[in-house]
Amino acid sequence: MRSAQGSSPGPAARAEELRAELRLHNERYYVHDDPVVSDDVYDALLDELRAIEAEHPELVTPDSPTQRVGAEPVGALEKVHHPEQMYSLANARSEEELRAWVKRMRGHLAREGIEDPAFAYVCEPKVDGLAMSIVYRDGVLERGATRGNGQVGEDVTHNLRTIPTVPLTIEDAPPFVEVRGEVYMSLGDFAALNERRAAAGESTFMNPRNSAAGTIRQLDPRLAAERPLRLWAYGIGASDGLRLESQWEALEWLRERGFPVNPDIVRLDAEDEVVARCLEWQARRGALDFEIDGVVVKVDDAELQRRLGVVGRDPRWAIAWKFPPTTTVTTLRAVHWNPGKFGDLHPYAELEPVHVGGVTVRMATLHNEEDLARKDLRVGDEVIVLRAGDVIPQVLSPAPHVVERAGRAAPPRPPERCPVCETPTVKPEDHVFTKCPNRDCPGRRWQLLKHFASRGAMDIEGLGEKQAELLMTRLGVRDAGDYYAVSAEQLVELEGMGEVSAGRLVAAIAASKERPFARVLFGLGIEGVGEVTGRSLAQRFRSIDALLAAGPEEIAETPGIGPIVAQLIHDQLADERMRDLIARLRAAGLRLEEEGPPPGEGPLAGRAFVLTGTLPELTREQATERILAAGGRVTTSVSKKTDYLVAGDSPGSKLEKAERLGVPVLDEAALLELLG
Ligand code: NAD
Repeated sequence: MRSAQGSSPGPAARAEELRAELRLHNERYYVHDDPVVSDDVYDALLDELRAIEAEHPELVTPDSPTQRVGAEPVGALEKVHHPEQMYSLANARSEEELRAWVKRMRGHLAREGIEDPAFAYVCEPKVDGLAMSIVYRDGVLERGATRGNGQVGEDVTHNLRTIPTVPLTIEDAPPFVEVRGEVYMSLGDFAALNERRAAAGESTFMNPRNSAAGTIRQLDPRLAAERPLRLWAYGIGASDGLRLESQWEALEWLRERGFPVNPDIVRLDAEDEVVARCLEWQARRGALDFEIDGVVVKVDDAELQRRLGVVGRDPRWAIAWKFPPTTTVTTLRAVHWNPGKFGDLHPYAELEPVHVGGVTVRMATLHNEEDLARKDLRVGDEVIVLRAGDVIPQVLSPAPHVVERAGRAAPPRPPERCPVCETPTVKPEDHVFTKCPNRDCPGRRWQLLKHFASRGAMDIEGLGEKQAELLMTRLGVRDAGDYYAVSAEQLVELEGMGEVSAGRLVAAIAASKERPFARVLFGLGIEGVGEVTGRSLAQRFRSIDALLAAGPEEIAETPGIGPIVAQLIHDQLADERMRDLIARLRAAGLRLEEEGPPPGEGPLAGRAFVLTGTLPELTREQATERILAAGGRVTTSVSKKTDYLVAGDSPGSKLEKAERLGVPVLDEAALLELLG
C-alpha cells in the first residue's frame, strides 16, 4: 500500500503527518459515518505510524491514534461515561503474527511467574458493525451507548430499544451488569433498505457498517425502527457481583438470558486449530449474511485475561485475525456513463489495469451520480479499488494523499447528451440523478431486456448481456415480448450460436413461461417494483388485470409500498407501451395470475415459514414459491410468530434462535410432506 508521496520527511515529521491524517480519518469514520478511505488504507497508515513509534518510542504522544480508540464524540447525542473502558483489538494479518501473539502472551505470563500456561481460545467472527455497551440495572435495560473514544460514548438507548433481538429485561440478573456486543445490519436487510431508498429517490448507503452506524446514532428512534438492525452479544463489561470464570461461560450466560450469541463461536485448545479456524472463516466469509472483517481470538480463562491486562488501547489477551486486503490503488483514467433501466445515467470507471482480489480489474462501478460527487473523484486521481468475492469491482475513494492535492481535474459531470442515443439529458427537479428521457433509447432497452432474463426475474439460462445485445441489434428484439417470437433458425444466424445452443436458448425462453406471476411482475421493469414488492403486489392483487384496474390509493395499501411509489407504479402501468408489452406476454402464454390460493386459504394458510441453509434439492426460490403457492408466508427472521423453520446445510444463527424459541424445525423432506 502506498503512503504519502513527496520527499521523505524525518521520522518525527512523518509521525506528526500520519497522526494528523489518521485523526482526520477517525473523525470521518467515527463521527460522520462517512470515511474517505478504505479500512485497508487506514490500517496501512496506522501500521506505518506504529512502526515509527516502535523504533522511536520517544515520539509516542499520549493522544496518538496508536494509543487511543475511536474519536471524541461530538454532536447532539448525550455523552455517557462507560462503567468500564471499551478497548480496541490488536491485529494479526498472518499465521506468523498469530503465533507471535501467543508467544508474546507466554513471555508476559512467564515474567508474571506463570510458566507454561494451558491456553484455551474462543474464536468469534469479527462482525463489521458498531460496538455497544448495554447496561442493565436489576434486569432492566437502562442505557445503551456507543464506544466513542473508549471512555466516553454516546447515549443511543432510544434506538437500541427498537432492535427486536435486544432484550429489554433479563431474568436472573445481578443488580448491575454491562453487556457488550456488536450492532450490525445484515446484507439482505442492507440491500432491501437501499432498494427502498433508491425507489423513493433517496440517497443510498455505502455499506452495511456505515448504515448501521448512521442508524444507531439517529436522534429520532422512528428512523432506527424502520431500518432493521441486529445485535451479536460477545462479552460482559462491568458488573456487580457477577463472577464468570471464562469467556465461554460469559457467552453461555448471555445465551441463557436470551441475547443473540453467534452459533459459530467455538472454544479450541490448540494453536493449530485456531489457525485452521481463522483460515476456514476467511474462505467462508462471502457466504454469510453479514459482513465480517476477521476473526477475534480470545484467551478463554478470565484469570489469565486479568494477568495479561491491557497494553495501550488493546487487551493483550485478544487479537483480531484480519482477512487479507481486497483493495488496491490505481489511476482513474476516465469516467463513462451508461443509461440504466429507467434512464438514469450510471457512471463507471475506466482504470489503469490493476491486480486485486485475484483478478485484473480494468473497469469498476461508480454506483451513481450522487455517490460519485460524495467521493470527490477526479479523472487522473489515484483511487482505491475494492474487489471482494464475486462482487463487481468498485471505486471506493481517492487515495488519501490525493484529497488535498492542488491542480486536480474538474469533477466529472454527467454528459449533456445520452452516450447511447444522443438525446439531450435532463435532471428533473425531484430527482437525484440525470436521466436520458428517451424511452426508446437502445441503452435503456438493453438494460430492460437483461433484467427480464436475469436470475431474480425470469431466470432464462443462456440469455446474458451479450445475447441480449445480439438479439436486440441483429434480430430487432425491442422488448421482452419479442423474446417469445424468436426462433432457433434465427438464432443460428448469430455469432457464436451453434444449433445446439440455439435450441437450448429457445427451450429456456419457452420454459420461462412457467415462472410465477410475481416474477413476471418484477421482470417487467417497473420503477419501484423490486423482487419483494413484486411478490407483495402479486399476493395482494392476484392478477395483472386487477392490478391494471387499481388506482394509486389501492396500490398504496400493499405492504411496503408508500403513496409516492404507488403513484409511480400506477403511472407506468397506465402507459400504452406497458399495456402493449403485457398484451404480448399474455398472448405468449405467460402467467399473469397468482396460481396459489389467496392469502388465508390453502393447506398452509396463515403459517409463517423461515428458510435457512442450503436444501438438498430445492433452491431458496423454489421452496419459497412452493410455500406461497400453498397459502403460506415466508419471512426473513425467526420470531415467536414463526410456525416453522426450514433448515438445510450450514443453517447459521436462525436455527439456534428457532431452537431457543421452540419453533419446530423441518428438513426438506418434512417440508415436502407438509406441502403434500
Ligand atoms: P477493530 O475494529 O480492529 O477491533 C475492535 C472492534 O471489533 C470492537 O470495538 C468491536 O466493535 C469489534 N468486534 C467485532 N466482533 C467482536 C468480538 N467478537 N469481540 C470483540 N470485539 C468485536 O478496532 P477499532 O478500533 O474499532 O477500529 C478499527 C477499524 O476501523 C479498522 O478496521 C479500521 O480500518 C477501521 N477504521 C477505518 C477508518 C477509515 O477511515 N476507513 C477510520 C477509522 C477506523
